[in-house]
Amino acid sequence: MSCPRLGLSLLLLAALAWTEDEHGSEDSSHSKKKGPGHGHWSYADKDEWQLEFPFCSGQKQSPINIDTNSTIFSHELQPIVLAGYSLDPSEQLSLMNNGHTVVLQLPGSLTIASGYPQEYRAMQLHLHWGSPEGPGSEHTVDGRRYDGEIHMVYYNPSCGSIKEAMKQPGGLAVLAAFLQVGPEDNMHYQPLLEQLHKVQEEGKETTVAGFNIEGLLPANLGRYYRYSGSLTTPPCYQTVNWTVFNWTVLLSKKQISLLETTLQGDDDTDLQNNFRLTQRLHGRKVLASFQASLSPRKVPLPDGGVAPMTPAPDSATERSMDKVPGTGAGCPPCADSEKQLGFALQTADVLAGLFGALFAVTALAFLIYIHRQRSQNRRPDSHPKPNIIYTAATTDENTV
Ligand SMILES: [Zn+2]
Repeated sequence: MSCPRLGLSLLLLAALAWTEDEHGSEDSSHSKKKGPGHGHWSYADKDEWQLEFPFCSGQKQSPINIDTNSTIFSHELQPIVLAGYSLDPSEQLSLMNNGHTVVLQLPGSLTIASGYPQEYRAMQLHLHWGSPEGPGSEHTVDGRRYDGEIHMVYYNPSCGSIKEAMKQPGGLAVLAAFLQVGPEDNMHYQPLLEQLHKVQEEGKETTVAGFNIEGLLPANLGRYYRYSGSLTTPPCYQTVNWTVFNWTVLLSKKQISLLETTLQGDDDTDLQNNFRLTQRLHGRKVLASFQASLSPRKVPLPDGGVAPMTPAPDSATERSMDKVPGTGAGCPPCADSEKQLGFALQTADVLAGLFGALFAVTALAFLIYIHRQRSQNRRPDSHPKPNIIYTAATTDENTV
């Protein structure tokens, strides 16, 4: 923390706290200038970030690939509960193209009320995406990259300031959700997407009328992965308490395309593929709020990855468009509405229970069969049955 560059960066961050994303200084370097040298980094040179930002070669870097079979189920991971996300339209939020992404500033009144050991207050949200040629989420699940990823960035107010929070492990939190092409427009994203053309160029800023920010996240905030990681762009501070939701958010193909083709970054080039490649775990554990590692339902994906199948969406729920269709390959690791949560949450449990019950019935039938065999051996003439082998499985026996 004695690095002069870092100190300067943090000062800039403090001054520009509300325009930061989880990527720290990227916004501080973008807020006042545009052109060569902006931000001191780009996605094109991400292999060299560590030369200028030493934390980028640390052992707790993000994003990561989430290997679902290696995740550890934790009862302590309670559902994420958000508070204060329905903003009045009279509230104006800043939307900015910082050259690396589009950032929507969020009031600190938006909090994570439950799901972490401590309270977190919102700073901003931003998105990562690919291009028409390929997907662009930062995290991957079982090797699969999704079309995009939303990051809601928070800081721990008990750290005193955002500046301090950024330096302390767990000082920051990011709620991440995968974006995926679905069958129809996601109206929750319209307030943001319909303003993109106003911030087409790097450094441009506009305002967005308040809307329901929570609608940008999946309907189910109970199923997620949790691990300790970092900012995914320089200066790569390793202070982020990550939550990656198991449900995806569905946007129409048109909406995803709009995201991929509207904005410009460096030197007026298309702002695309603004994601960092996955980083090594270096022994870190990834916790899950559900038994992801026991899910037996795996399906191969077109891109060679493997993802859990998902239950069918509940079209009767208000936000059914946010949910992932339950149609075979290509489905993300998702569940569905509150009503279906019981089914989805317990998929592995139910299957385990069914197998257990089947085993119990079989074992019981076998024991009864043995018992009857012995009885008949003792009374060879009292109960003649020519096909005795399967008599144990009669209705009479099963009612025991
Ligand atoms: Zn991000």
